[in-house]
Amino acid sequence: MKAAKGRIITLENGTNLIDGMASWWCAIHGYNHPRLNQAATRQIEQFSHVMFGGLTHAPATKLAERLVNLTSCNLQKVFFSDSGSVSVEVALKLAQQYWHSKKETEKNKFIAFRNAYHGDTFAAMSVSDPNNSMHALFSGTLPKQYFADAPVCRNDSDWEESCIKSFERVISKNHHRAAAVIIEPILQGAGGMRVYCPEYLRQIKTLCSKYNVLLIFDEIATGFGRTGALFAYQHAEVAPDILCLGKALTGGYLSLAATMCTKEVSETISNSKHGVFMHGPTFMGNPLACSVALESITLLLESSWQNNITTIEKHLTDNLLELTEMETVKEVRIIGATGVVEMHEKIDVAKLQKLFVNEGVWVRPFSNLVYIMPAYTISESEINQITGAIKKILYKEYK
Ligand code: PMP
Repeated sequence: MKAAKGRIITLENGTNLIDGMASWWCAIHGYNHPRLNQAATRQIEQFSHVMFGGLTHAPATKLAERLVNLTSCNLQKVFFSDSGSVSVEVALKLAQQYWHSKKETEKNKFIAFRNAYHGDTFAAMSVSDPNNSMHALFSGTLPKQYFADAPVCRNDSDWEESCIKSFERVISKNHHRAAAVIIEPILQGAGGMRVYCPEYLRQIKTLCSKYNVLLIFDEIATGFGRTGALFAYQHAEVAPDILCLGKALTGGYLSLAATMCTKEVSETISNSKHGVFMHGPTFMGNPLACSVALESITLLLESSWQNNITTIEKHLTDNLLELTEMETVKEVRIIGATGVVEMHEKIDVAKLQKLFVNEGVWVRPFSNLVYIMPAYTISESEINQITGAIKKILYKEYK
């Protein structure tokens, strides 16, 4: 490709494609945004990077303050790293070091969920779905964790007690060894794009408190509005002990992630023998990324993002739900600015991608999923072209 502006990706041959992917959840304002460009240029003219050990700077401190205010729960400490996977590593290490500081060194395992996806580094892989094709190859090397069944309670049906039984069994049996539970709130992302009901999250929180296990929310994909709430955990009105953010944090401009935690977690570690958290990546708190993130958050909050997402959600519902009637379609799931068509069989990704390009849209299916998560600024005619292409291609190729 040679250029990207707004919601349009321009290929080398001059073909324009309407983007349905926001570069995997990131580019929430569209590409090449003048305000984000300006923020980056301004910061480059000051300094683009400086070590974050012993030195600090306004972009990072302001961004940390902003995130603390925005999450508006008891998450008051922020650790910046360079990617979502690393922020998950940081979250897991924080949890383990917390229990180590309390002299409960046997609490060094994690409880995770089938169909979860938390990244591609080793500890992050170890808490992702163990049979998922992306990670199964490395299973011999990965530390063994405890797995509960994926949440089965849909967000549009009544709560049933049976939904929590698998998790309850796992935590009641293993809490002595468990440092934390890690979960993607409300929407499991790359491990299956599955949506579940807020009550499930509330039950998880209650059981974590009962069994004295920390709770980590991975909002790397869902953070900054994607599900219709600024953070997906707000649908359930429960707060975690540790939270991971990334992707849309910089509006898709630069790689930056944040791991936030409560004072209880950070102070327990600070007051211990080691006194500091054992992690120090080179590009921690990168000022260029932090400056763009600050501007991206300002842009988001100045916009009518909630209305935009409600409009996108309605469009997806009105246009994609009808695909459920196809025998080849297993389920259609929609939440906020995310639409998922799950097929019964795996898709020929290369073939479909070409067909989408022929229709002038950028949609990249994965496994048996055709899914979109466009920029929140997408227009009615643009999203219409995307959902129109999905319907046309699926009706023709999978009737
Ligand atoms: N957690 C979730 C929920 C994700 O969706 C992703 C990325 N797809 C990650 C973690 C890993 O983030 P990154 O690709 O930035 O390392």
